[in-house]
Amino acid sequence: KGKREGADICIFEDSEDFNVTQRLALATQLQQAIRNNELELYHQPQIHLATNTIAGSEVLLRWNHPEFGFVPPDKFIRIAEDTGVINELTLWVINSAFKHLNELINQGISNHKVSINISGKDISMRGFLNKISMALEVSQVPPELINLELTESVMVSDFKILSELMKAFANMGINVSVDDYGTGYSSLAYISQLPFNELKIDKSFVLNLSESPRNYTIVKNTIEMAKNLHLCVVAEGVETSAVEQKLRDCGCDIVQGYYYSKPLPFSEYLIWLRKYQE
Ligand code: C2E
Ligand code: CA
Ligand code: CA
Ligand code: CA
Repeated sequence: KGKREGADICIFEDSEDFNVTQRLALATQLQQAIRNNELELYHQPQIHLATNTIAGSEVLLRWNHPEFGFVPPDKFIRIAEDTGVINELTLWVINSAFKHLNELINQGISNHKVSINISGKDISMRGFLNKISMALEVSQVPPELINLELTESVMVSDFKILSELMKAFANMGINVSVDDYGTGYSSLAYISQLPFNELKIDKSFVLNLSESPRNYTIVKNTIEMAKNLHLCVVAEGVETSAVEQKLRDCGCDIVQGYYYSKPLPFSEYLIWLRKYQE
């Protein structure tokens, strides 16, 4: 399990080129995947730079297809969004993440946040807020340990709906991050009109940070502005100690990337956590 990651599955190479029939077939398989237990939530740690302590993890969806093996999320999320299956997927992810969070708490790891990716298509889902409230009620997880990651593109499309939703999240005590910051069109001035708690700088700026003076300038200034807006800053895609050092110089709060760990199945993540905390 999980060992097949990175394996070649040419059939999924160009999901954008799938015809309507193939896309619908995949969407149906995706729905069945939920019931057949083919989906799994992996965890990637997020670490406080100042103290080297664990802030939490981002949960990332994995699909083990019975025929094709591992299908990367980049390939199936788009199809799920285009066919509307995404809503069901997201609800499965939320409920699974809450279960994992409870297991962490039961194991005495009580201050660990879990970050969940929310699609733009989920914002306008009927009863989304109710479903989250219910999942909270059933699982009894502390809302302050939950973080929802929204991409910039969400904001441009449905500002009013999003604004209402975010007010409700804030009242419930749930945190919200801007994901992939810098890849969309919205500005920080625009983002600051919504009650975000956190900003995630996209990995395209972070990966080569130590060799690119241009990206360094962008990241440094983004962090400074985000801090002035009282946003916590996360850098994703940290692969080297040189990049980590640059992020330290810039005053980045939280780091995430292969340098610390790749995303792991939950059971392996628990082992990783124990080792890290030794
Ligand atoms: P994302 O939200 O930007 O997630 C970060 C991606 O960067 C993950 O890819 C992660 O494995 C990868 N990554 C982490 N550290 C490094 C690093 O140091 N270097 C490099 N090169 N990459 C790194 P992954 O897991 O393949 O997910 C791809 C995208 O699929 C995610 O991008 C997110 O947009 C989407 N996705 C994944 N899980 C879910 C989900 O549960 N729901 C939704 N709506 N989207 C999801
Ligand atoms: Ca994310
Ligand atoms: Ca991201
Ligand atoms: Ca992304």
